[in-house]
Amino acid sequence: MEEKISRLGVMGGTFNPIHYGHLVTAEEALSQFKLDKVMFMPAGVPPHKSDPEILLPEERYLLTVIATASNPDFVVSRLEIERKGPSYTIDTLAQLQQIFGPDTTVFFITGADAVWEILTWKNAEELVELTEFIAATRPGYSLEKFKKLHVLPEGEGREPGRPRVSIMEIPALAISSTDIRRRVREDQPIRYLVPEGVASYIKKSGFWKD
Ligand code: ATP
Ligand code: MG
Repeated sequence: MEEKISRLGVMGGTFNPIHYGHLVTAEEALSQFKLDKVMFMPAGVPPHKSDPEILLPEERYLLTVIATASNPDFVVSRLEIERKGPSYTIDTLAQLQQIFGPDTTVFFITGADAVWEILTWKNAEELVELTEFIAATRPGYSLEKFKKLHVLPEGEGREPGRPRVSIMEIPALAISSTDIRRRVREDQPIRYLVPEGVASYIKKSGFWKD
């Protein structure tokens, strides 16, 4: 990326496969938080998941590229899929800080379910110093506990070591990759849940069929 990026969104995930829930979340973050770009970051070897249903990193990367191709503000990074060993967000954020420099603020975009796990991630304390979090509402997950715990308005009196979490309301989409995979297995439609190109590529590759 050539142009100057002062506010960078990073959307991490397994993307197994990417779906409209991810895309709507990223687009809303872009607009509500005035980000310059959103970088999708497919995980290499997901440290918290080990499941035969998980496609190869290269396949998940390809689907993510297909899904984001028409949006000039979305980019897909190969950082995690090219790194050896499990993907730790702390390493990714440190690497991004090195690449972009101190004038870029990184916003880590997650769904309500995932932000809660962050507190148990490796090096959670360092992590919160490297990034701000944008937590999107997701059907079935309550954001109430965040309201009580750590959410402070941006820039206001946050204690060191506490996550900076902003809550983002998005049009709710009860879509999950788990459900998409189930639908593919059971020959149910995934049209309108994932971009057309993603559905075609899944079909042509026979993913989750045997
Ligand atoms: P799986 O069912 O396999 O866990 P997933 O749909 O949760 O897949 P992930 O790749 O695990 O997708 O999610 C990446 C990020 O996107 C996470 O932060 C997750 O919370 C968020 N996310 C996923 N689906 C939605 C959705 N429908 N609305 C809002 N956020 C979402
Ligand atoms: Mg998930």
